[in-house]
Amino acid sequence: MKIAEVRTHLLDHRLDTPFESASMRFDRRQHILVEIVCDDGTTGWGECLGPALPNAAVVKAYGARLIGRNPLDTEILWQELYNLFRDQGQRGLAVTALSGIDVALWDIKGKHFGVPVSVLLGGRMREKVRAYATGSFRRDGVDRVADNASECAGHVAAGFHAVKIKIGFGPKQDLEVIAAVRDAIGPEARLMIDANHGYDVLEAIEVGKAAARYNIDWFEEPVIPEQLSAYRAVREGQPIPVAGGETWHGRFGFREPLETRCIDIAQPDLCGTGGFTEMRRIADMAALHGVRLVPHVWGTAIQIAASLQFMAALLPDPPRRDPIEPILEFDRTPNPFRQAIIQTPIEHVDGWVRIPDGPGLGIEINRDALEEFALRDTA
Ligand SMILES: [Mg+2]
Repeated sequence: MKIAEVRTHLLDHRLDTPFESASMRFDRRQHILVEIVCDDGTTGWGECLGPALPNAAVVKAYGARLIGRNPLDTEILWQELYNLFRDQGQRGLAVTALSGIDVALWDIKGKHFGVPVSVLLGGRMREKVRAYATGSFRRDGVDRVADNASECAGHVAAGFHAVKIKIGFGPKQDLEVIAAVRDAIGPEARLMIDANHGYDVLEAIEVGKAAARYNIDWFEEPVIPEQLSAYRAVREGQPIPVAGGETWHGRFGFREPLETRCIDIAQPDLCGTGGFTEMRRIADMAALHGVRLVPHVWGTAIQIAASLQFMAALLPDPPRRDPIEPILEFDRTPNPFRQAIIQTPIEHVDGWVRIPDGPGLGIEINRDALEEFALRDTA
C-alpha cells in the first residue's frame, strides 16, 4: 500500500448569529479536512486545528513528500515531515498541518488492519465517555449575563453534568456571569471557566479569588500562552486549578509547562498538537508529572471522532478501582460540521457519548455535505 494523493477540503458556513470569545470573533465556521488516498483505494481522514487556508498551504507542502510512501510508517513520516520545517516551524501551522496528516494516516492504519484506532493505541478502556458542554460565548445583541445563564441551564437540563463558560472580557461582568450561571445550574453541576487568555496576571488572580466561592473545577487559559511565568503566578496566586495547552504544540511545547508546573490540567488538542503520534507522547509526559489530561476538542466530526478514539485508550491515572474517567469537550455552539459531514452523527445521550467502534476513526464521510459546504470564495 502506497500513498497516491493528499487532498484538502475547506468547509465554510456563515453563522446566523456571530459570537465571541475573549480573543476571537466568529462570523463563520471554517475548517480544513485532510484526505489521504492510497493506491489500493483505502482513504484516511484528518483535520487541522486553526485557520483553514494557511493550514491547507502547509498540508500541500507536506503532501508532496508523502506520495509513494507507506502510510503505515506513522512514526517515520511524522519525524520526516516535522524535520522538514523544523528550523522555521516547531509549533503553530507547521504542527497543526502535520496533525491533520497524522490523524488521516492513523485512520488508514485502522482501516488496513480492520480495527479502531483505539485498539492500535493499546486497547479500549471504555466504550463511552461523559461529555461536558462548551458554550456561553458573548453573542451579539443579547444580555450576556442572562443569555449565558439560560444557555447553561439548558445544557444541564439536557443531561450534561458540567458546563464551561467563556470569560476574559473584563473581571466585573465576568464575575456577574459566573454567579448567574452557578445560580442557574444549581449546586451539583460542575462549572469551568475559560478566559481564552484575555486577562493579565493581576486580573486573573482577582477573578480566581472571587470566583472560587462558586465551586469552579478549572480556570482555563487565564493569560496568553507564551507567558509561562505568568501561568505560574496565577496558579500560585488564586485557589482554582489552572488548565491550558490548546495552543501548545508537540512534546517540546508541553515540556516546560509540565516541568515547571504551570498547569494542573493539560489540554492538548489532537488535531493541533501533532496527531495521535505526538498526543501519545504528551499524555505520557502529563502522567509522568502527575498532571491531569483533558483533551481540547474544537472542530468537525473528524476531530470529535479522533479525540474519542484517543480517549478510549487513555489509561487511568492513578489506576484504582473507581478511576478518574476522561471527559470529552463537547462544543454546543452552532456548527453544521459536527454532524453533517458523517453518515452517522455523533451525539450525546444524557451527556454521554459512545465511542465509534468501526475501523480507523470509526466514521464514514458524507461527500455530499463536503460539496455542499465547500469554501468557494477564498479571496
Ligand atoms: Mg479553551
